[in-house]
Amino acid sequence: MNLSQVTSEVRQAVAYLSGVEAASKLSPEERSQHTIQQMVRALECLTEAVEECQRRQTELEARLDHLNRGADNAAHESGGPVSGDPSRTLCCPHCRKQLPITNELWEQERFEIACPYCALAVEVR
Ligand SMILES: [Zn+2]
Repeated sequence: MNLSQVTSEVRQAVAYLSGVEAASKLSPEERSQHTIQQMVRALECLTEAVEECQRRQTELEARLDHLNRGADNAAHESGGPVSGDPSRTLCCPHCRKQLPITNELWEQERFEIACPYCALAVEVR
């Protein structure tokens, strides 16, 4: 089950619970039995949703970590594209414009770039 299926399951269960509460056909005993069953079901779905979120977060963190390392390695291993080619960009934290980064700069462990749009000096590590 994917996350949106799980959330819609939970919504249905909660909607059902409200319905059961309002239903007058059922005896009080039946009503509470149904209510408990649906509550358990809703909780199971919620647990599944939380687990799915955790799984995805772990996956994303691993991927991000991999990407960070990959960016460092690629610059060294392949020599990268033509030196000075502004193939990389950085988003200015102040004005959100894309700043081109040359490979020479990128290969350095840390560097500073001045945003040509708002003149902010951005330190990159
Ligand atoms: Zn800027």
